[in-house]
Amino acid sequence: YPNIKISIMGQGGSGKSATVIKFVQNHFVEEYDPTIEDSYRKQLKVNEKIYMLDILDTAGCEYYWGMRAQYIKETNIFILLYSITDKSSLQLLKDQEYRDILRGVVEEQEYSIIVVGNKQDLENEREVATKEGEEFAEEIGAYFVESSAKTDDLVPLFEKIVTFHLDG
Ligand code: GDP
Ligand code: MG
Repeated sequence: YPNIKISIMGQGGSGKSATVIKFVQNHFVEEYDPTIEDSYRKQLKVNEKIYMLDILDTAGCEYYWGMRAQYIKETNIFILLYSITDKSSLQLLKDQEYRDILRGVVEEQEYSIIVVGNKQDLENEREVATKEGEEFAEEIGAYFVESSAKTDDLVPLFEKIVTFHLDG
């Protein structure tokens, strides 16, 4: 099957691992070691075609060393994830993670960026308005979505993400 490499980046605690594990294994993790960096594989059918997704769940922000550097270079879809309950997590994407992508993508493959506002279920703790996430995504030409690793089925989310990547 055609392979699509995805890297998920963003501030620790914003829900990267919970999002990846919910999508791949269909359960919500309440606690996950924030230092674990791992990659996952899952087949996904999009528009009647099956793709093999390789997903790197990053931890920390040293994107340039060892195996990870190579993976980042070959990434087709970058998911920049923040938590709607934490302003600083969106700020980190603006200040750091997006710039890092541009610096790290030295090979000329086509790539897409998706901005995900996670923890949408925690509406009463919201610190980031939907519009702020939308505006950042628009600035960088990214697709934008809010979601919840806790309460959402994330298969439709990844279908949308891959569709956006394939259709541009
Ligand atoms: P990471 O450091 O970005 O990988 O963050 P984790 O996936 O480890 O999540 C950090 C904490 O937030 C954990 O306690 C998760 O259970 C919790 N969490 C992650 N996503 C959500 C979500 O969508 N809703 C809620 N309520 N909690 C979440
Ligand atoms: Mg994690």
